[in-house]
Amino acid sequence: MNHQIDIEELVSLRHTLHQNAELSNQEEKTAQIVKSYLEKFKPDKVYENIGGHGLIVEFKGSSHKILNIGFRADLDALPIDETIELEYGSKTENVAHKCGHDGHSTMVAGIAQFITQLKNRKNSIFLIFQPAEEIGEGAEAISSFLEEKNIQLDYLFGLHNLPGFEKGSIVTRKGTFAAASTGMVIKLKGQTSHAAEPENGVSPAIAFSNIIQGLTNLTEKSKFHHLVLSTVIHAKMGEIAFGTSPGYAEIRATLRAYKDEELDKLITLAEELVIKESEEHGLIYKLEYTESFPTTENSEDILKLLKDTAGEQSLNFKEKEEPFKWSEDFGHYKRITKSGFFGLGAGTDCPMLHNDTYDFPDEIIADGIRMYTGLIQFFEANG
Ligand SMILES: [Zn+2]
Ligand SMILES: [Zn+2]
Repeated sequence: MNHQIDIEELVSLRHTLHQNAELSNQEEKTAQIVKSYLEKFKPDKVYENIGGHGLIVEFKGSSHKILNIGFRADLDALPIDETIELEYGSKTENVAHKCGHDGHSTMVAGIAQFITQLKNRKNSIFLIFQPAEEIGEGAEAISSFLEEKNIQLDYLFGLHNLPGFEKGSIVTRKGTFAAASTGMVIKLKGQTSHAAEPENGVSPAIAFSNIIQGLTNLTEKSKFHHLVLSTVIHAKMGEIAFGTSPGYAEIRATLRAYKDEELDKLITLAEELVIKESEEHGLIYKLEYTESFPTTENSEDILKLLKDTAGEQSLNFKEKEEPFKWSEDFGHYKRITKSGFFGLGAGTDCPMLHNDTYDFPDEIIADGIRMYTGLIQFFEANG
């Protein structure tokens, strides 16, 4: 089999996406650019505007006993200014692709070049471009859409580029690949009073300080088997008015764990702390959660498949000892299908993700596509 991937065409697609960077839930133009690129490959079906601007492009298989195999990319950029000189620099003020989702989308789009050259393909291929990865919403929206449409994926694969790892290497692990996390919002309501008469009000000050301290102590090793983290990311109380004793406070924390069950346990402990402190200090509390990500995981079978595929494609394979502490919303897909996730090395000299000097390295586009097309070939041969 001799398949030709036109990398130059894909580099140009990546640069167009980079120029047109859009924030989570605003990826309208980005989705249009990807769609118009893919239309020339004459897909069998195009589903648009999923959960906002999500896009799914389906290439139907030919055999009766087909597998539905999905490849997922993310479309969104970040609220970070482009500070480096690039010919294709972001045209959107204060928004740029600093997580490499322009590269991820390009690689998944590139699969179309391969599958249209694959004669008598048995399996159906779904190219999935999800919105709002950075805020943990897009994967759930795509999952619900697939369920509504009764599209059962047999497998779904995704990758994230990884600065700090050798260019084009495949990095993954069995079990948790990326941590689970959630944003916890704690609202405490008391009663303001004159600062000269604090006894006539209900100040949240003591509970506020106890909760901030307590959140940090929740992660004591004795209570957990794996890494858990509780990071207070924002807190505010009262107003800047020296004549007023405060009546309201808010605390925001990110809770994180290597296991979904341990994140649940951490949440329960955090809630118990808020309830106890609120009751002791006569406050009304309200709890909200946002940006929730389950763990992204690989089964033993998937790990073997990824390892074998990387080997066949002569890509360096590295099995990571520890999970990544960051979260990836790909974890939501494990609810609806067998899923596999891996990192693609972006180079040891590549600036870190979300750094304003970061730019997706075009040299690894071919490697990512080789891994994806290797997986397609595996299922064609063995599916
Ligand atoms: Zn990111
Ligand atoms: Zn990302």
